[in-house]
Amino acid sequence: MGAKHQMTEYLDIDLEKETWCCRRCGHELISAHESYKEGCLVYDRDPTTVYRPILPPPYTLAPDPEWCRIVEFYCPSCGIMVECEYLPPGHPITNDIEPNIAALKQKYLRA
Ligand SMILES: [Zn+2]
Repeated sequence: MGAKHQMTEYLDIDLEKETWCCRRCGHELISAHESYKEGCLVYDRDPTTVYRPILPPPYTLAPDPEWCRIVEFYCPSCGIMVECEYLPPGHPITNDIEPNIAALKQKYLRA
């Protein structure tokens, strides 16, 4: 097995370099000791631009932009969407994966 290990549908972790990598293009995003989101392009979107209005405003099916923002994370090399999250405005970006790198290395890099 190589040094790369799949962590999510669009994220690998390179256990030798200890970096997050895009699964699609292999681009190294950032150190695996940081949040992979810090290595991505960020698109902070108004929900009303994501959900097509079905009814005339204010009766749309989009979340209220005063209560919700949609934050998308993209690979800066190939442009694949790595992650998407819904957050209240002003809420910090979440750190959803904190890998135990030492344990992963012991499990997958043993000779
Ligand atoms: Zn990529």
